[in-house]
Amino acid sequence: MIGFLLKELEKAPNPVFRKRELLAVSPEDFEDLKCRKILTYCRPPEDDMEGVRWPRCQHGCTLTVQRLGELYEAFCLNHPEEDAILVGEDDLNRWCFSIDALLKEIIQANGIQGGQKKIAPPARILATRSTEATGSASFSSRE
Ligand SMILES: [Zn+2]
Repeated sequence: MIGFLLKELEKAPNPVFRKRELLAVSPEDFEDLKCRKILTYCRPPEDDMEGVRWPRCQHGCTLTVQRLGELYEAFCLNHPEEDAILVGEDDLNRWCFSIDALLKEIIQANGIQGGQKKIAPPARILATRSTEATGSASFSSRE
């Protein structure tokens, strides 16, 4: 799952996922990362127009959703003549990947100290550890 999330992070700086696609990768990892707050539920403001990446319009456009009771109606703004498609909450882009939470766990797991510092984004220093031999060592990562 982490590999999948990192690949998506390379494509977009703040990827948001559908629960359905995350469960398809690994239901166990989804639950684990949810408990660790590496995957967090994020809901758009009520009056925001919300889009879905999948399904798509017959012409390939992304669809806009509108709540319809327990379900959502997905329709194309460019092709109003196309039928709307009913989708469920699991099809909506509602799960955010927190790279900060993941990096925090990496720092803790490796017993290194020091706060994360963003340097020339997207690169960042994860932590610095003083050592007798070298003075200090920095650990860095690109988002
Ligand atoms: Zn369309």
